[in-house]
Formats: sequence, structure tokens, C-alpha cells
Amino acid sequence: MTLFEKITARQIPAKIVYETDDIIAFRDINPQAPTHVLVCPKLPLPKLSDAGAEHAEILGKCLLAVAEVARREGLVDYRVAINNGAGAGQSVFHLHLHLLGGRSLGWPPG
Ligand code: 5GP
Repeated sequence: MTLFEKITARQIPAKIVYETDDIIAFRDINPQAPTHVLVCPKLPLPKLSDAGAEHAEILGKCLLAVAEVARREGLVDYRVAINNGAGAGQSVFHLHLHLLGGRSLGWPPG
């Protein structure tokens, strides 16, 4: 079981802010912005690069869930990030989208 499956199963506590049959979103334990939420498909796909055409619907749902959580958080400007692979900063190998907002976000990121 991945860490995020354990959060979904309530085996590990987390501040869950949104949940549907196939998506869960909860606050990051080490927030990098005033709002930092992780949006995950419950399907434990390790990385974005593991996704295929059969995942198009769940990937679309993840993006729409990010937008919904952002609305609920009162965010207008925000960043959505996916770290794909250890070399890109991925540390939990269960696909998730970072929603970051509530502070100025420069581009390109440092
Ligand atoms: P990644 O580095 O894989 O893109 O992002 C993983 C994120 O999961 C990190 O931002 C990290 O702070 C967060 N995280 C790691 N362990 C836990 C945990 O037990 N609970 C919560 N809520 N977030 C976690």
C-alpha cells in the first residue's frame, strides 16, 4: 500500500479537504505555501509517465478536482505541479498534483 492509499484508508491521519469515489485531496504535511494541497487519484499510479490512454479520464478528473479545491480555498492565482521521478523531486510514488497558492509564486521556480 502506498502512503497515499493509507491516508485514503484512514490508516494515517491527514487533513482531507476533498474526496470523491476516485480522488482524494489533503493538506501537505510540509506546506510550501499558505495553501498546499495534494490531489491524488485513489488508483495508485506511481508516476505521470506511467499513465496511458486508459488513464485519460482520471487525469482529467484530477485537474478538475484541483480547480474545485482552489475555488473552495478562495484561490484565484495558484500553481499546479507534478514531480515526475526522483530526479524531479518526487518522493512519494503515487501520482499526485501539488496545488500551491496564497503567496506570490515566481516563474521560473527557483
Ligand atoms: P513529491 O515530493 O512526491 O512530489 O511530494 C510528496 C509530498 O508529500 C511532499 O510535499 C511531502 O511533504 C508530502 N508528504 C509526505 N508524507 C506525508 C504525509 O504523511 N502526510 C501528508 N499529508 N503529506 C505528506
